[in-house]
Amino acid sequence: MNALILSKNSDVKHIFEQAFLAEKLRCVIRQTAGDAIEELVKRETDLCVIDWGLIENLNANLVEILLNTTRTMASYLIATLPNEGSLPSALDFGADDFLIHPVCLEECAGRIRIAMNRIKGQRLPPANDQQASDSVYQRVLDAMQEGLIVIDAKGTVTLANEAALKTIGMDEKDILGVHYSRIPIKMLAEEGDVITKENNPLRQSLLKGEMIRDLNLKIHPSIGLPLWISINSSPLYREGGNAPFALVITFTDITDRKERERKIERQFKRMERTCALLNDHKTQLKMTNARLEELVDTDGLTGVKNYRAFRERLTHEYDRAMRYGGGLSLVMIDVDRFKRYNDTFGHPEGDEVLKRVASMLQNSLRSTDMVARYGGEEFVILLPNTDRIGAVTMAERFRKELQNAEWEHSPITASFGVSTLTPATPEKEIIVDEADKALYFAKQSGRNCVKHYWDMTEENPIAMWDSYSYGE
Ligand code: GH3
Ligand code: MG
Ligand code: MG
Repeated sequence: MNALILSKNSDVKHIFEQAFLAEKLRCVIRQTAGDAIEELVKRETDLCVIDWGLIENLNANLVEILLNTTRTMASYLIATLPNEGSLPSALDFGADDFLIHPVCLEECAGRIRIAMNRIKGQRLPPANDQQASDSVYQRVLDAMQEGLIVIDAKGTVTLANEAALKTIGMDEKDILGVHYSRIPIKMLAEEGDVITKENNPLRQSLLKGEMIRDLNLKIHPSIGLPLWISINSSPLYREGGNAPFALVITFTDITDRKERERKIERQFKRMERTCALLNDHKTQLKMTNARLEELVDTDGLTGVKNYRAFRERLTHEYDRAMRYGGGLSLVMIDVDRFKRYNDTFGHPEGDEVLKRVASMLQNSLRSTDMVARYGGEEFVILLPNTDRIGAVTMAERFRKELQNAEWEHSPITASFGVSTLTPATPEKEIIVDEADKALYFAKQSGRNCVKHYWDMTEENPIAMWDSYSYGE
């Protein structure tokens, strides 16, 4: 702070100089009005001390210039008066304070302190600066894309920027000073729950001092369409304070983003439905195909596999047995004297017999075995991993089952020809041919019996050491 003393009075000059020094203020002393004016113009001066006895002897114009300059350039004017009679003119000219001669140091120092406080008080805050900074501040807030609302500790809205007002479709006057819970905006959580006073996240944020991060809410503004916003909030604390004194809430309109997300979600759901439908169709198609395959492989009358399926399976089993071993036997079955049965009881009755024979065969087999209708009244059984003894035993058991079964019109028997694969069997047709020959042999041997191909020749080495006996 700078001070100026205009006086010719050595007491005034001396005492004020000391008082200024004591207050650590720089001061200059001028003895003429002209010098004082010059000083005031060229150097910033806060405090002027003017000896009223000096200026009372000057011409009026100079006094006017001096005092105008003082009032304009300096903040504070102390008049030192030769006597009380000078007081009215000093006050007229706008003196802020006065002292009457003789002056003493303590009083001067006291007046200077008062002056300094006043000057400081005037400077803090200069009203115009505050307004200017407020308007800059407001402009910055209004330039923000994000909506910004500040509420105080009681929940009263104290600030809202333009983006906020625009988003919620309200005027400043309708929101400022209003408790946030009374703002007439319906809010919904993402799951669709209505936000009530109790579950309002802003309340939690204010009460517990918790931040909200990217919380998506659907709002129904007082005007316009519902929209989605993403909210963040930060509680503000005073230094050392443990409860927030305000809550700063910022939010952005995410309706477009949300709409895009919803669209993608809807498309995704549609795709899922289409996929589910496609899968259904696929399953149905698979079932239909399986059924068709079944039909293609199935004999229409008896329900067991047909000749085509047998040929396919024979190839497969032959290849497997030749590659991995394990054996393979084939049983060929022919119903005895079936022509006669048909002729006697009718073809439909004959059909019933064939159906029952097929079903009995099917039921007496392992899951790996295969029964098929070879044609007419003939059936075949493929027995993987089965040797001669196993195959003949199976055939014999079935032969007896057939013979012992109760039949409506007359007993039914069948003849069985069995063949077994050896490592020397050059191709799959051989095993069929041998079974056929064995079957013929069974017929020749009086029917209703089981014959293995190897039974037909004494020279067969395997037949020689195989001591198993079967048949009637
Ligand atoms: P064998 O003991 O020598 O086998 O005498 P068979 O009469 O059984 O033999 P044959 O070959 O002389 O006659 C077979 C008969 O089987 C002739 C035919 O009418 C009958 N047959 C073939 N297919 C069917 C069918 O699908 N249904 C009926 N009911 N009979 C059939
Ligand atoms: Mg036949
Ligand atoms: Mg027959």
